[in-house]
Amino acid sequence: MRSRLKNIFQKFRFLRSLRVRLLVIIMLVGTLPCILMRYGIMQSYESRTVRQRTTAVQTQLKILANHLITYNYLQDNSSEVIGAELAMLSNLYDGRVLIIGGNFKVVKDTYDISQGKTIISEEVIRSFNGESLSNYDRVHGYIEMTVPITETVKIQTDNEETETTVVRGVMLTSISTDSIMSTMDSLGQRALILEALTIVVVISLAIVLSDILTRPFARVTQAINTVKAGYSNEKISVPDYLETVHIVDAFNQLLGRMKMLDDSREEFVANVSHELKTPLASMKVLADSLLTQPDAPLEMYKEFMGDITVEIDRENQIITDLLALVKMDKKAAALNITAVNMNDLTELVLKRLRPIARKRDVEMVFESIRPVTAEVDEVKMTLIISNLVENAIKYNKEHGLVKVVLDADHQMFSLEVSDTGIGIPEDALEHIYERFYRVDKSHSREVGGTGLGLAITRSAVLMHRGSITVKSLENEGSTFIVKIPLTYIAG
Ligand code: ADP
Repeated sequence: MRSRLKNIFQKFRFLRSLRVRLLVIIMLVGTLPCILMRYGIMQSYESRTVRQRTTAVQTQLKILANHLITYNYLQDNSSEVIGAELAMLSNLYDGRVLIIGGNFKVVKDTYDISQGKTIISEEVIRSFNGESLSNYDRVHGYIEMTVPITETVKIQTDNEETETTVVRGVMLTSISTDSIMSTMDSLGQRALILEALTIVVVISLAIVLSDILTRPFARVTQAINTVKAGYSNEKISVPDYLETVHIVDAFNQLLGRMKMLDDSREEFVANVSHELKTPLASMKVLADSLLTQPDAPLEMYKEFMGDITVEIDRENQIITDLLALVKMDKKAAALNITAVNMNDLTELVLKRLRPIARKRDVEMVFESIRPVTAEVDEVKMTLIISNLVENAIKYNKEHGLVKVVLDADHQMFSLEVSDTGIGIPEDALEHIYERFYRVDKSHSREVGGTGLGLAITRSAVLMHRGSITVKSLENEGSTFIVKIPLTYIAG
């Protein structure tokens, strides 16, 4: 059943084409009014002509009715004048006239068939009551009319004379509508020819118009294909319609983003190579200077080997950070969300970092405003806290202070890491999250920085749908504030 439906959809796939739809719409809009108009005009012509013919005959019949009374035709049908009038009427309208007397007897039939017969039909009875009737029979092609033959009679009562109308008989007439029909036939034929011509013109117009109207979309596809095939990397432009402008704008924006990604990837690769090469270059210099001195003292060997170990550690640190960053670039699906006690976690990280702080004579204070349990990835959360606290220690002054404050409202928890360190210049604030960015390269190198810590931290925070902000004053210190939802928002 499904595959059958699929087959049908496949067969009528062409209906989804804008060009076919336009073609159908233009054809319908062009031809339907034409057909309706022909039908309407023919109909109104027919009813108008039938009405006119009926009125004309009825008028003639009324005049004839008066003559019938004058000539007392109902009693004596020998009048030649009336005979001639009747013959003229039936000739003129190609019809038959029956004159029925008071006793429903046919006094005269112009066809000489029903003379002397009695006709009692509904119409005749109604006409005896004074009504004039007409009925158009389209199928058999005639109009039937019944008209009363009336006489005005004066009645003398006591001292008044009143006039009343008395029905003496009825005229039953049927006239042929063949002439109307033949006029209609020839009219209809002409209309049909016109209609066919119009349809041909409309269809040709529809084919041409639908092609012209949809051409800009083909141009959009062609332009995109050129970019896709790699022949061009330039922005495309199809300004024919607002719609194509919108599509092309969106495509150009996408192209711009792709270019940006490409550029940043190139820059990243260049940065990585440079960063990885620096320790190697140092090691080479150290090793070379030992090699070029054949009788170098043992102390020199020891010192240089110590320096080489430092460079190897640095190389190692850069690679570890890079791996952390690459992992972070994968989608949020990589998060391992559990309910984590943030107070315990922060305490643990601070405990781990305490030896480094002590080495630099930096005091660490943890202020927990309230117990916080949050749905987070524990490993990444540890990275966030340790990176921020490590920086606060690294970029501090002697006898400095690092303060960590943990707080929460009903939606988010916040982790505030402030230090009394060297601070960050205002123009550097917008760059500190960039990979490999360091305010003071030599100082960062001294303290063992790779320039990747804050990039990793920011990625981890964003994966948790949180935010990271910084306030800093040079020579006074910096405060990093991380806010993360208590419950993890997936999707
Ligand atoms: P690094 O490994 O060099 O510390 P980060 O990405 O962690 O790299 O930080 C980028 C730069 O931002 C650092 O080199 C440093 O210049 C500056 N920075 C970060 N944290 C602080 C801070 N607490 N105080 C002063 N400067 C900071």
